[in-house]
Amino acid sequence: MNHKIAVIPGDGIGPEIVREARKVLDAAGKKFGFTLDYTELLMGGASIDVHGIPLTDETIAAAKASEAVLMGSIGGDAKTSPWYQLPPEKRPEAGLLKIRKALNLFANVRPAYLYEELKEACPLRDEIIGDGFDMVIMRELTGGLYFGERKTIEENGVKKAIDTLSYDENEIRRIAKRGFDIAMKRKKKVTSVDKANVLDSSRLWRAVVEEVAKEYPEVTLEHMLVDNCAMQLVRDPKQFDVILTENMFGDILSDEASMVTGSIGMLSSASLNETKFGLYEPSHGSAPDIAGQDVANPIATVLSAAMMLRYSLDLDEAADAIEAAVKQVLKEGYRTGDIMSEGCKKVGTTEMGDLIAQRV
Ligand code: NAD
Repeated sequence: MNHKIAVIPGDGIGPEIVREARKVLDAAGKKFGFTLDYTELLMGGASIDVHGIPLTDETIAAAKASEAVLMGSIGGDAKTSPWYQLPPEKRPEAGLLKIRKALNLFANVRPAYLYEELKEACPLRDEIIGDGFDMVIMRELTGGLYFGERKTIEENGVKKAIDTLSYDENEIRRIAKRGFDIAMKRKKKVTSVDKANVLDSSRLWRAVVEEVAKEYPEVTLEHMLVDNCAMQLVRDPKQFDVILTENMFGDILSDEASMVTGSIGMLSSASLNETKFGLYEPSHGSAPDIAGQDVANPIATVLSAAMMLRYSLDLDEAADAIEAAVKQVLKEGYRTGDIMSEGCKKVGTTEMGDLIAQRV
């Protein structure tokens, strides 16, 4: 079976980490009998250098014509890069917002998984960590407070700022379905996070999530208030499987959840729409400080590629094999600089990619 994949290497360490992810994907393809047909696209600074803008309509069309997009990272050093002399709508990051909108990517999935071998990087106490945790945060990405009407006015000489938090039932239903679908591929538990004791939007959220839950009798649903969830993430992270939440709560909780895993170079992410299509990228940025030095950790991108196989291409077995290969490499003591600890073997970006690909 052949699959059409758009690849956006991007800026900084992007091309290096995407190259390693492709290496691992191709190894999985050989083992599991599929091929990937890659179309390389420009976005961010790389696109500005060629086209003068961070994202062209041709790039959007090519992304749409593929089954999934694998991305490195976009952006440069804001202090030194000429890209940041441009007006905000022409800077690298504008491309990112535009492609998410153009592809209708309303569901952001960020796993927070603690590897046994990287326990030392976790800031939580051993008795809280136990045998580790494995959750995903499913965040609504295109609605809520960040997209509502906003204004700043002056009333009787007093300045007043207004932001609007609104969700309609369709926006809630589609993200809830996505959350339950993902729970079905995992431990079958959804924790829906809201502030239903105060907010109308949260009360609607809760009602619609309960409606959707009826279509997934195998999945256990629980509701949790967002303040309690922020606390539970550091008190007992093991209790979570899929955390389903709206845009702003998800923004904050996903950063908290990633922090407790310890390393930015390990965190994958996916942004999905209503179809099987998705955009897969590491959670970290383009790290211009280490670009081109063969020291970047490619694992977040490799794991994002595994998510692509699982969620967009239904190649679950191959995704499992890639994740197991990453675990194996860590178990054997290989580390890039960002996750290095005493007694381990330090390797560069390329060697880490080779090691994972060999173990798929
Ligand atoms: P960053 O994530 O790029 O880097 C933060 C720190 O973590 C740096 O010290 C970097 O060297 C290190 N780091 C990041 N990824 C690593 C990896 N894989 N291996 C080893 N070390 C790694 O964040 P930043 O410095 O704030 O941003 C740099 C650029 O990336 C900016 O232009 C920013 O706008 C952009 N950015 C892009 C995205 C995206 O494309 N989705 C996300 C975040 C930031």
